[in-house]
Amino acid sequence: MKAIKLLALFAIIAGCFTSCQKEESNNELPTPVSQEPTKEQLIKLSNMGVNIDEVTIKKVFLPDGTKEQHLVSGDISIPIDGLHEYSNMETLEGDNKQYRSDYLVAPQYRNIRVLGWTGAGFELTPRMRTGLLWAVANYNALPNTLNFTVTFGTDQSQADMVVYRVAGGPGGSAGFPTSNGKPNRYVRINTGLDVPAYSQNVIEHVIGHEIGHSVGFRHQDWYNRWSCNYSGPLPAEPSVSPAAIWIPGTPWSPFADSIMLACFNTSEDGEFTDSDKDALNILY
Ligand SMILES: [Zn+2]
Repeated sequence: MKAIKLLALFAIIAGCFTSCQKEESNNELPTPVSQEPTKEQLIKLSNMGVNIDEVTIKKVFLPDGTKEQHLVSGDISIPIDGLHEYSNMETLEGDNKQYRSDYLVAPQYRNIRVLGWTGAGFELTPRMRTGLLWAVANYNALPNTLNFTVTFGTDQSQADMVVYRVAGGPGGSAGFPTSNGKPNRYVRINTGLDVPAYSQNVIEHVIGHEIGHSVGFRHQDWYNRWSCNYSGPLPAEPSVSPAAIWIPGTPWSPFADSIMLACFNTSEDGEFTDSDKDALNILY
């Protein structure tokens, strides 16, 4: 049943990618920037613990209408101009379950002011607004040093994180905290997420997942993306190196449940698992 749902999801996603790319090529003049990631960029991403099986370069809209060139792997979206802000990773040791990125949100930046965007063209839908409030409530319910406040509007000057809507299939995208200790700033939620097939809980799940990246979570299954219908051999334990940093104190299983699995399905309840809570409380 789950496999069938995932296949349907893939069909939707594949359809979207095709149409999005067509749209882009119609509207854009050719740019001198290569559309294939360089070997150097791929090595950098791999060193950051990002799966590099299918990395593309895309133009990403910011809510003020400007665009940035990003390296995109699934829902991980890193500005090319900001790539130098991510250090190379240390080598992984020990068992693995929940993973974090190389930088966390620094103590002075842990009161995170989230702006839910309402400006024309990139405004969150009503269900996305509700999903954002629910996801943030989940983070705020944890006994740790992260604290989120949400406002809705278009004034970015007082915001640490801006959540806005872009064209695209079901899902969203975000980056990681950088070396300055600030959380990832821009969280994109795709228009294709707010369709009847996805409940309010699924929308909560995706927004909570993207905020998870923004405060330092990597995918629980980053090494093979098994939740995305991976069909190759399963490793006894992750063997890719260098790799994402394991969060000590969390268990490991290739089929563990987490809000940070790479792919989601229609049955997500939007809530943290016990190990998600452990991981966040250990980190913060
Ligand atoms: Zn993700």
